[in-house]
Amino acid sequence: MGGTVIENMWTAVVLGIVVVLAVLAVRKIRKDRKAGIHSCGGNCGACALGELCAGVGTCDGAQDIKTNKAEASAEIQIPKHVREALNTLNDAGHEAFIVGGCVRDSIMRKTPNDWDVCTSASPAETKVCFAGKKTIDIGMQHGTIGVVFALGGDATNESAAEHHEVVEITTYRVDGEYKDSRHPESVNFTKRIEEDLARRDFTMNAIAYNPKIGNVDPYGGQADIENKKIKAVGNPEKRFAEDALRVMRGLRFAAQLGFDIDGETEAAMDAQAETVRHISAERVQVELSKLIEGVWADRVFGKYGEILVKAVPGIECAPVGRFSNMKSVRLAVVFPKETEERLRELRFDNKTVAEATALARLFAGDVPEDRIAIRRCIRSEGLEIATLYMSALGREQEIYDIIARGECCTLRQLDITGKDLIDMGITDGKKIGATLEKLLDEVIEERVANEKKELMEVVKKWEQ
Ligand code: ATP
Ligand code: MG
Repeated sequence: MGGTVIENMWTAVVLGIVVVLAVLAVRKIRKDRKAGIHSCGGNCGACALGELCAGVGTCDGAQDIKTNKAEASAEIQIPKHVREALNTLNDAGHEAFIVGGCVRDSIMRKTPNDWDVCTSASPAETKVCFAGKKTIDIGMQHGTIGVVFALGGDATNESAAEHHEVVEITTYRVDGEYKDSRHPESVNFTKRIEEDLARRDFTMNAIAYNPKIGNVDPYGGQADIENKKIKAVGNPEKRFAEDALRVMRGLRFAAQLGFDIDGETEAAMDAQAETVRHISAERVQVELSKLIEGVWADRVFGKYGEILVKAVPGIECAPVGRFSNMKSVRLAVVFPKETEERLRELRFDNKTVAEATALARLFAGDVPEDRIAIRRCIRSEGLEIATLYMSALGREQEIYDIIARGECCTLRQLDITGKDLIDMGITDGKKIGATLEKLLDEVIEERVANEKKELMEVVKKWEQ
């Protein structure tokens, strides 16, 4: 190499800068691909994102989309009937994506609860596309049509099919102004997927995907999933003021997924928490149930308990993780006082209210020490509640053993009946009942064996 030392130094500096710039550019392209951002400006001709690709830079949209598609389709396995829904809409010239929880769960390699589809087709157009299938108007004013797919059996004959799946297909929409932290005053349909994604609650729930395009992720939801962050889409304060249920949703996702809530989002949730009380009890109940049943419920109580306490009157952030994961058990733990009243306010069903109320009472008392105490519990609470209680304590086997051994815990199991007492000369109905109850006491406490002869001897003694 010729040249002066100074010339060589300059060459090295310039080369260094070029290498750094090249590395940064490659990183940005990779990051953009991950986030589903393309840079063709909608002009590459191969990019189905159109105006969404209003990014800056050189046009490499076709290449980006291809890569994005390959990466994403390797991750998301869409069930056949949902793919059929996407294809039917596509073939009719409409755009369609899976969106929301199913994309989030697929990215996390979890099995989605349900598969939601969103589309540029209007509700009427969606109905035309699926004219050969049964459709259900789930929420026409919100643009949601349920399409019934027959699975298994004879796919051409719905009645011969083994079962049906309903895919909810919702037209892209923009929500209007919100009233009372509850409902948008109007709903307008749009042709732009990004506008539909903008109305969604959290970045992780604002990712759309289809096999042709891959992810559409304008808010960095995929990165937030990777970083285990719950972040509101757009301005957090505005979003929670629009719909306070999102406060409960944020907490329940934290409890289900073990994610942290982003600082600004958490502050906005805290500020709006009390307005959750204006939300319909049924909607709060759904989110609260999912929250307390979440694997990370105790973590949420520890980190975000203050928000929850503001949002749900009477709730106590007592640890639920050590109790079995049954709704009524965990409700009894978090509503230890005025259980019935609180659960009725939240419109829980009668069975759940009755179970949780009995359990809260049992939790407040002494833990049964031995078989005698468990038999007393079966007698006073009934077998169902007692089993729930012992399961909650992780001691259900002790109840199963009592049942297997046929140990007497109820009047019906006593080896003596009212008729036997009548035959012994006791005629007063009230006295018959009281005597049987007293005998059951004796048997449960193991002072007398549950055998007719012995029981009759005891009665005779009492009658002397
Ligand atoms: P899950 O797996 O429990 O069903 P999900 O995210 O699918 O969770 P859904 O209640 O089924 O939750 O709602 C589907 C999608 O609709 C969400 O992922 C989100 O994009 C959007 N969404 C639901 N509720 C709201 C809300 N209150 N505000 C904004 N977007 C919402
Ligand atoms: Mg869902």
